[in-house]
Amino acid sequence: MKTALITGATAGIGESFARLLARNGYNLILVARDLDRLNQRKIELRELHPQIKIELLKADLTVASDLNMVSARAEKGIDLLINNAGFGINKTFTKSEFVQEQELLDLLVKAPMQLTHSALPAMLNQGSGAIINVSSIASWIAGGTYSAAKSYLTVFSESLHSEVKDSGIKVLSLCPGFTRTEFHQRGRMRMNGLPNFLWLSADQVSKIAWRDLQRGRVISVPGWQYKIISSIVRFGPRPLVRKIGMNIKMKQRQRKDK
Ligand code: NAP
Repeated sequence: MKTALITGATAGIGESFARLLARNGYNLILVARDLDRLNQRKIELRELHPQIKIELLKADLTVASDLNMVSARAEKGIDLLINNAGFGINKTFTKSEFVQEQELLDLLVKAPMQLTHSALPAMLNQGSGAIINVSSIASWIAGGTYSAAKSYLTVFSESLHSEVKDSGIKVLSLCPGFTRTEFHQRGRMRMNGLPNFLWLSADQVSKIAWRDLQRGRVISVPGWQYKIISSIVRFGPRPLVRKIGMNIKMKQRQRKDK
């Protein structure tokens, strides 16, 4: 049986991947900070899929010792790594706290890079494996440091895809648009006014990513609406892209950050 390690597996897109992979017969290693929620997910998954093994790793991936512990588990050998845990900052760079910016880089850039580095040797050795990096459509816009961090993840994934594609390893950068999860509430972002057709569901996102991974794609953009938008932000003139990026960033700000 294959084993998948998912970071941020207790909510949103990560939780949806956990259900999808359990249905596909994967043993799971679920990573997040909240142990009660991890246990709850384990109970729910075991009820439906008693045949799979589920390990829980309570870890704050912005803390070096916790990240090292998860890395050590990845080094032992896994078949699929999903770098998914993430959060967003609702403040512009001139208003944000340095600590939050550091945590953003640690979670969105350092953790995926380190876990990928740890997981790859065993995958290369067995000549198979897969990595899904949950990036964002924001990786193509200039909407604050979140966009900058997600740009790293998308370019890193593209580069790694080229490097390991002949070794039997698949690498996918998943670039969703707005998805109904706990993300915006946790980041205290103002999302009222966003038209309904722009919202994706977490299950829609994980399902399309899974299909695209099987097809050997390097970038996955779920939803017709985001296929159109991503074409504009990827190939449109940069001054326009910068304007779109900052407009979105300013709209998401907390009221007191005005
Ligand atoms: P979510 O519902 O808020 O879930 C985030 C998950 O990450 C939770 O399981 C959370 O669990 C975990 N997590 C957060 N900080 C962590 C830390 N320091 N260490 C370990 N785990 C941590 O968010 P989501 O929307 O599913 O986000 C998943 C990914 O999708 C993120 O990378 C996000 O940037 C990306 N994304 C989201 C959207 C969107 O509109 N929702 C769009 C594009 C991309 P604990 O709190 O228990 O640790």
